[in-house]
Amino acid sequence: MILYSGPGVLAGILFIFITAIQPSIYANVSLDYLLEIRPGIMHVRVIYAPVIADSTTFKYGNEFYGGMKDLLKSMINLTSSVKFKVDSVKSTITFYYPGNTPVKITYDIIDTHKPEQRVVGEMFRPIITDNYFFSLSHTLFLNPEIDEKLQDSMMMSVTLSKNPAFPMYFSFAPELKPGGTITLKLSEGMDALVTGASDLHIEKREMAGIKNYVVLRINEKNRDNLNRFMNYFDSFLPAMTDFWGNLNGSYYSLVASPFLDIDYHDISGTSFNGGFHVKYSGDAILANDAVVYTISHEIMHRYIGSGCVSMGEDNQWFDEGFTDYTTWYLLSQSGIMPSGKLKETVRDTYDKLSANPVNNTPNEEIMKHFWENHDYEKLPYNRGALFAAFIDKRITEQSNGSKTYRDFMRNLKAVAEQKKEPLTVADFIAVASGYMPKEEIETSVRQYILQGEMIPGQKIFN
Ligand SMILES: [Zn+2]
Repeated sequence: MILYSGPGVLAGILFIFITAIQPSIYANVSLDYLLEIRPGIMHVRVIYAPVIADSTTFKYGNEFYGGMKDLLKSMINLTSSVKFKVDSVKSTITFYYPGNTPVKITYDIIDTHKPEQRVVGEMFRPIITDNYFFSLSHTLFLNPEIDEKLQDSMMMSVTLSKNPAFPMYFSFAPELKPGGTITLKLSEGMDALVTGASDLHIEKREMAGIKNYVVLRINEKNRDNLNRFMNYFDSFLPAMTDFWGNLNGSYYSLVASPFLDIDYHDISGTSFNGGFHVKYSGDAILANDAVVYTISHEIMHRYIGSGCVSMGEDNQWFDEGFTDYTTWYLLSQSGIMPSGKLKETVRDTYDKLSANPVNNTPNEEIMKHFWENHDYEKLPYNRGALFAAFIDKRITEQSNGSKTYRDFMRNLKAVAEQKKEPLTVADFIAVASGYMPKEEIETSVRQYILQGEMIPGQKIFN
């Protein structure tokens, strides 16, 4: 449940409704944050209503992200109404309080990223300059190290102080205005992103019941970027919606901003609950085709891979490979890429997979070697994308063009939505056998996916 309150957001009858239920909501808020952004510094004040007696340990940051070394140096001026202990190795802070007395905590977040941390420093550490702020939730808020069930039931609230140094954007509360407050589940608030900039530019597109927010940095010098990006998004979003149909959820954030100190790396991205964040190099957003593919692939994960249509970690050939193929398919169909580009890309992928020295690795062996080198890493992407091309071709042939790849993928989505858990190889075969002979799809999955035999070119190309 998500509720907004504050000036400019609520009015009239809605406000009365909120006011009436507010006390019960606030009674459940365990962490009440006030954020005040100033040039170069984020002041944080939090009131913690203990959910366990006597003491609670909070984690700051998350070592599973890159560039987290010495992260506690980003948190300065820590004070509390009670005694506390800092463990800078574990990046935790423990507060000791009598019984369940509320605890007042204040701290400031500063920018301690270093250019020599390469890309991860700018992707994952807080960045705060005189005119820009960026932080993932885990480097802004304190995360209680408590029983998972208890944590799932916790609520937090976030208030943005009046007169922030520059406009701010919260992925968990896109409409939050200065002076406003949002109350939400802790789990929603802790897998999110907060950003702000003097040149923050937000575009909103509503489609299929979802509010899509595109958050960019646009100023006099780079005004071209706005047109370029929105032309792309306004073509790709309808193509995706048309292909996949409706999606659960209420909003989605796509945040893009330039790297500050990095010009040797084209693009990097991170996903979070209900959105995707991308950092690009230089002045031009979507500078080349590779960048357009990368961003589109990541947006496609709203639906497939990490989205609702997934076959889980053991089947990266589907989660990544089918994401790749569907991305190319829609980029061509929507006219963002020329129509011949799909065939060209499949051809390139075929050449790459043929030349991959480990291309005969069985599916179940891939993950064991995944981090060894790029050959293994690329394998499920390429193998899966070619298999999707094969399915596309066979559907057209078998149905004389009356059924399409889209019908098949929608069918998979319908099964996934009903199951509410990852699809199995058996589910995949069951759906595909509605479009081609069952024996053919069974044999093909076994040979070209599970056993890792190279798929023959004539099965893919006309
Ligand atoms: Zn992916």
